Amino acid sequence: MKDCLFCRIIAGEIPSKKVYEDERTVAFEDINPQAPTHVLVIPKNHLQGLKEAGAEDAEMIGYCHLAAAKIARERGIEEGYRTVLNVGPGAGQSVFHLHVHLIGGRDLKWPPG
Ligand code: 5GP
Ligand code: ZN
Repeated sequence: MKDCLFCRIIAGEIPSKKVYEDERTVAFEDINPQAPTHVLVIPKNHLQGLKEAGAEDAEMIGYCHLAAAKIARERGIEEGYRTVLNVGPGAGQSVFHLHVHLIGGRDLKWPPG
C-alpha cells in the first residue's frame, strides 16, 4: 500500500530501528516508546487491523504474537510483558496496518487506560 506508513517502513522508504525480521514479519522499535521495551511486530502483507481480518489471517495474527514472544524471550523480559492490538480509533489505533505492540521491561498496571 503506497500511502501506508508501515508498508513504507517495510519497503525501507522510512527508516526504522529493526529488531527482528523473518519471511512474514518485521519488528521495529516504536518511535514513542511507552516502556523500556516497546516494539511493534507487523505482517509484511498489508492488513488494516483486527476488525478487518478474516479467517485467512488467523495464522498470521498468531504468528506476529509468537514473534513478539520470541523477542521478549531474547530480551529477558518474560517476568511480565504485554502484547496489545489497539483496534479502532476509540482504542487508540492510529496506524491502519495491523501491529502487535510488545510492551515490557517495567511493571505494567491493569486495567490499562
Ligand atoms: P497505534 O496507536 O495505531 O496502536 O500504534 C501506532 C504506533 O506506531 C504508536 O505507538 C506510534 O508511536 C508508532 N509510530 C507512529 N509512527 C511511527 C514511525 O514513523 N516509526 C515508528 N517506529 N513508530 C511509529
Ligand atoms: Zn500497510
